[in-house]
Amino acid sequence: MERLQKVMAEAGVASRRASEKLIASGHVQVNGQTVRTLGTKVSSRDTVEVDGVPLHREKHVYFLLNKPREVISSAHDEKGRRTVVDILREEGVDERIYPVGRLDYDTTGILLLTNDGALANKLMHPKFEVAKTYIAKVKGPVSNNDLKQLRLGVKLDGRKTKPAKSRLKESDRVKKTSIVQLTIHEGHYHQVKRMLEAVGHPVIKLHRESYGFLNLQGVQPGEFRELRPEEVKKLK
Ligand code: URA
Repeated sequence: MERLQKVMAEAGVASRRASEKLIASGHVQVNGQTVRTLGTKVSSRDTVEVDGVPLHREKHVYFLLNKPREVISSAHDEKGRRTVVDILREEGVDERIYPVGRLDYDTTGILLLTNDGALANKLMHPKFEVAKTYIAKVKGPVSNNDLKQLRLGVKLDGRKTKPAKSRLKESDRVKKTSIVQLTIHEGHYHQVKRMLEAVGHPVIKLHRESYGFLNLQGVQPGEFRELRPEEVKKLK
């Protein structure tokens, strides 16, 4: 038996807090009866509906994808472009998975996909602050001062980014490009590209090499693997 709001969050309806509000305001039915009590527990045999629409209560699955370029980080694309979910579908994954956060169309690297709404919500919450490490190829020579600015924070939309880690990995004097490693704990829109642009270095190529303790070891671009139970446990 599990608490109703937990079951709802795990099915991807909303966060636990938002699910509690749905329950309290009379939007949730268990076995056809509206339930407003927050402590209510349900088993896998009970039917749970939100405004009459049954919840999908699938077994939870967790995947780690090495996202290639030119793929959209969503479950569907209105323009019909290939999505990260299509990649897994093509290999027979048929659960209702979606990506945990987003990588841009042209960004490559590590991306988690799951049907566990509660874990996805938790990982995407700013309070949780998963460390995400990116490797960026940028225009121009990157100075120590640029790296320091990235570390201390740059202004984006009038707000300073949180402390980050930054490191120069390579610089090509002939091509006038640099490779920078940047670790951030937030996930604002185009954050890495905009941070580097803000210090005068437009991004040419972007790759995410790690997400918390997870990395891409043994997973080639366009390939994916299931997370091991102990990895899922650690994320929770
Ligand atoms: N920051 C970006 O600018 N793009 C991404 O894809 C991820 C982080």
